[in-house]
Amino acid sequence: MSNARNVIIIGGGPAGYTAALYTARANLEPLVIEGFNWGGQLMITSDVENYPGYADGVMGPAMMQDFRRQAERFGAEFLTDDVTKVDFSERPFRVWVGDDEHTADTVVVATGATARQLGLESELRLQGRGVSYCATCDASFFRDKVVVVAGGGDSALEEALFISRFASKVYLVHRREEFRASPIMVDRAKANEKIELVLSKVVDEVLGDLKVTGVRLRDTVTGETSEFDTDGFFVAIGHDPSTALFLDQLDHEADSGYLVTKGKSTETNVPGVFAAGDVQDHTYRQAVTAAGSGCAAALDAERYLTEQRHAAVAARVV
Ligand code: NAP
Repeated sequence: MSNARNVIIIGGGPAGYTAALYTARANLEPLVIEGFNWGGQLMITSDVENYPGYADGVMGPAMMQDFRRQAERFGAEFLTDDVTKVDFSERPFRVWVGDDEHTADTVVVATGATARQLGLESELRLQGRGVSYCATCDASFFRDKVVVVAGGGDSALEEALFISRFASKVYLVHRREEFRASPIMVDRAKANEKIELVLSKVVDEVLGDLKVTGVRLRDTVTGETSEFDTDGFFVAIGHDPSTALFLDQLDHEADSGYLVTKGKSTETNVPGVFAAGDVQDHTYRQAVTAAGSGCAAALDAERYLTEQRHAAVAARVV
């Protein structure tokens, strides 16, 4: 083995910090290159009520602070910057932050995914104040309220159906007449009396000062605009995994860019490089599943290092 670090973890969300906690407690002295905007998607979430252990709920950013502090307590080191380049073609693996090169015998990629945004200033300003990107996380805050969901894929339909269990009315706004979502999901939404489809419209402004009070809709055919009162606005137009740095080296799904891991493990196609959390999971996308995956990556990395060391010792004995 080399004099490189045992493990570099790329990413500072639930997966990365959990991998850091476990590898730190295994005395692997991890370096976490957590990203300039560490914390991941939880940083744009207000109340988190579905993370086990926080019986009274917790604010997303506070929870990420807790995750980070817990890993730090066991000696994880943090670099608050963005990785700019990686080379996994030879060992030790090389990871750059600008001109600074770091090397490691194992790497855990936990760069997550980001919910696509509409790109409106008002959407950004009202995030966590009625604008949400996760129905599983936030739907229950809209009990007996009116909610608008934007999108026409399976996510949007699924979110609208889930929100309808709480809200009094859900308007699903889609920019075309045809849905990208599977017909069965569209049929379910049409059969749900709380859901109303608003087609050939886009939300071009979120209204409200301190919290969402409405949206402005624009007709994609006529260009006409209208205002619409609502208590919540869910943007469900897809997610993008943060994988651009790895696409030429790690196997990924051709259409979506999500990294591919082997079976139940976090192994990628490069032995010693592991992927954890939303960067390789577009199914569950929860903080708790990402944390579980980060734990698995840490255990996979630890086992890999142990095997490599045994192999190196055996080679010397022979
Ligand atoms: P998606 O299939 O890419 O759909 C995104 C939707 O958002 C499209 O309808 C798109 O409109 C719309 N959109 C994109 N940008 C927009 C913008 N700027 N303004 C307004 N609308 C915009 O994403 P997804 O729904 O997250 O699904 C991703 C993958 O996961 C799919 O393969 C899906 O089948 C799968 N998935 C499956 C399930 C399930 O089986 N239960 C649940 C969720 C997701 P256009 O149609 O006009 O492009």
